[in-house]
Amino acid sequence: MIPRCNSVFNGLASRRFVSASRPLYKAGTWGPDGTKFDTQLVHACVDPDERTGAILTPLYQSTTFVQESVEKYLAKGYSYSRTNNPTVKVLEDKVASIENGFGSVVTGTGMAATTIVMSTFLKAGDHCVITDSSYGGTNRLCRVQFEKYGIDYSFVDFRDPEVVRAAMIPGRTKLVFSETPTNPTLRLVDLEKIQAIAEEFGAVHCCDTTFATPLMVRPQDWGVDLTMQSLTKFYDGHNLGTGGAVVAKNAELFDQIKLTQNMHGNIMAPQVAFTILQTMKTMHLRVKRQSETATAVAKWLSKHPKVTNVVYPGTTHPQKALADKYHNGVHGGMLWFELNGGAPAGIELMNRIERPWSLCENLGAVESIITACAVMTHANMEVADRLKVGITDGFIRVSCGIEDQDDLIRALERALEHC
Ligand code: PLP
Repeated sequence: MIPRCNSVFNGLASRRFVSASRPLYKAGTWGPDGTKFDTQLVHACVDPDERTGAILTPLYQSTTFVQESVEKYLAKGYSYSRTNNPTVKVLEDKVASIENGFGSVVTGTGMAATTIVMSTFLKAGDHCVITDSSYGGTNRLCRVQFEKYGIDYSFVDFRDPEVVRAAMIPGRTKLVFSETPTNPTLRLVDLEKIQAIAEEFGAVHCCDTTFATPLMVRPQDWGVDLTMQSLTKFYDGHNLGTGGAVVAKNAELFDQIKLTQNMHGNIMAPQVAFTILQTMKTMHLRVKRQSETATAVAKWLSKHPKVTNVVYPGTTHPQKALADKYHNGVHGGMLWFELNGGAPAGIELMNRIERPWSLCENLGAVESIITACAVMTHANMEVADRLKVGITDGFIRVSCGIEDQDDLIRALERALEHC
């Protein structure tokens, strides 16, 4: 059975933002009655349009929704698009369903989603334990935005749960923010253990699994309170649009994030929701292909005499056992490596690389991308913090697309001749 997600906005009486409850799926099965993940990606929460039979969700490009009468306010579930929009709502339900959560909010970017989490669960005097290896923008958000509101952060190494436990401050730590695999170092987190620590201290745990995609890891299968996704990456997968999502595991958490979103106006435009509703239907095909290519590229790189430190969770990874426990047999399209010649050689390679590769930011798309994290995605970290977690100037982040793997390897080979 494919989930119908009949969670029409239930704001009639209480004006709360609760979706009708859906049963949570058991870990290991992807849907009620064993409906498989691939089927859900295509069909979950999307029904043919009742009026026309249109197979795709209609794009409701409308700010407001006309009410039949004052008494029947919200009878159809919609009033104003900052609060709820029918196209966006289908995407929210679908993301929640695919991530095995209770409900989700989608936003204009991944950073907007992270901002919702931090604003909802932290206030002046509170403390947050967060990975020291997060996406650079997340790190900057904490330091530059939220610390000035009197919130304290401990940036620690989440590879060791005992380090996380030692950083917790009883009564003050209200949020634990993990990321797995981390951008760009691909460090992994033992989600069960981190969730248990958060619960022990009464904190909410949010995990950013943008790099993993729900194909590999669904934090809510492991009891995690909140999942954060940059939909800009594998969900969109086509460099078409930016987006983010926060998925809550229960109604109470969902109400809180939905309220923050509504207050901030931190929403996704209906056109973007419409696009991601289509692109996410092929996420399983893309991610499986990207994983195969990443495996081939990682294996080839590790045999190259000029290459050192190839890290990919499917081949050589210092936390391979965790990758095997959590990754559902697929290890994703992301890997990184460095060259024996250090930063100058790495920079030379990134400058020389030719099509099918592109030197740019973003990841998870059909185009293969090489990123110089030190000057692009993680330039906004303090240099010492960046180097501490291993993001050197010659660090090369690779996002495998869906091109032919031989063509990708040949282009790498040509560039490496000059390094
Ligand atoms: N989280 C991770 C792991 C990311 O890689 C990124 C962006 O690269 C973000 C969050 C932020 O997402 P966005 O760029 O959509 O705001």
